[in-house]
Amino acid sequence: MGAMEDGRNEKPGTVVRRAGLREGVSRPVVTPIQPSVVYASPTIGTLHAQYEGRAQGYTYAREGHPNAELLARKIDALEGGEGGLILGSGMAAVTAAIMGPLSAGDHILGGNQLYGRSLRLMHQDLPRFGIATSVADPTDVAAMRAALRPETKMILVEVVSNPTIRVADMEGIAALAREAGVLLAVDNTFTTPIGYRPFDHGADIVIHSVTKLLAGHSDVTLGYVAARDPEVGRAIYDFAVTVGFTPAPQECWLAERGLYTFPLRFKQAQDNAAALADWLAAHPKVAQVLYPGRADHPDRARAQALLGDATGNMVSFALKDPTEAAADRMVQAAPELPFAPTLGDVGTTLSHPASSSHRGLTAQGRADLGITDGFFRVSVGIEPIDLLFADFEAGLAAV
Ligand SMILES: *Cc1c(COP(=O)(O)O)cnc(C)c1O
Repeated sequence: MGAMEDGRNEKPGTVVRRAGLREGVSRPVVTPIQPSVVYASPTIGTLHAQYEGRAQGYTYAREGHPNAELLARKIDALEGGEGGLILGSGMAAVTAAIMGPLSAGDHILGGNQLYGRSLRLMHQDLPRFGIATSVADPTDVAAMRAALRPETKMILVEVVSNPTIRVADMEGIAALAREAGVLLAVDNTFTTPIGYRPFDHGADIVIHSVTKLLAGHSDVTLGYVAARDPEVGRAIYDFAVTVGFTPAPQECWLAERGLYTFPLRFKQAQDNAAALADWLAAHPKVAQVLYPGRADHPDRARAQALLGDATGNMVSFALKDPTEAAADRMVQAAPELPFAPTLGDVGTTLSHPASSSHRGLTAQGRADLGITDGFFRVSVGIEPIDLLFADFEAGLAAV
């Protein structure tokens, strides 16, 4: 196994320290890719020792391999977690976090604005396996409390909601979970460990879509999940290994490479997001801007308390003209801003929730969330800010 430095890295930038395998008197600076699916043990006794945890060593790649392990240890260091797992996608991480520890008859309470596929898992899939689900507004801890049931085993929330950028009452929810004795799982994809470290604030499980900001280049699909309690971690691991949520070594390697620049990318994207939010707010075609770093954000005090200065790279805004035709003119007039349903890429991407992530809702359901047909979510990238101003000016001029 790679000789990672011991101890928790408190500063995100310290994950940049290269730490890989050490063999002989010199070592490669760059982590080798190890595609082997199988690992040979020298004796039967050694294999027993490996399975019983008395000896370290890999056996079969579905159960773990060096590239996944090294990446997991680096994200553990960022999150202040231990024993995290890399899985084949963010959704694999969400699914394993729920289906590992929970059983038929249990209930899970989710935030009402979770990632679209997480909501689908809650509404369509878990009930088929006898796991009851419901959702409530995570900015309103009284509503969360009212939705708890005697059989509730887990609360699943995201810190910042998609696409309306509302900030959950994480302190209230953590206290509620503690008081009710239920597991608190936090999908930290939007906030990242630079913005918020759920384990420092009472979370039991931390989940990431590594696909997004951590890997950062829209060229790998991976997930991460870690649990505070080793027994819960074991249940998640066993489920993930059984159903085969295995990540590919090559993808883990790419994500590790992306992670080395994550703190730099995050800072640049965030500086751009703050500048773009202010620029949009001053634009005559724009009705509303949602960014946690702005004084007019509806959850500004909570955002400051939870995130400090790390208000992230996600900005949403609504056009004064709330029609799809206006939104479409903007998309077509700004071809340099890819109209693409993802986030966390090095480049800025634009999403239109009414036609993508939230198309399954009724117009009234979207209106209740504040999502008009003129509502956009922007994942701000690391381009020079003047380029972004020019692209958005071109788009908005066509509205
Ligand atoms: C993208 C995303 C996921 C799913 O991740 P994949 O890697 O696409 O499977 C889960 N949660 C959040 C908040 C996301 O943004």
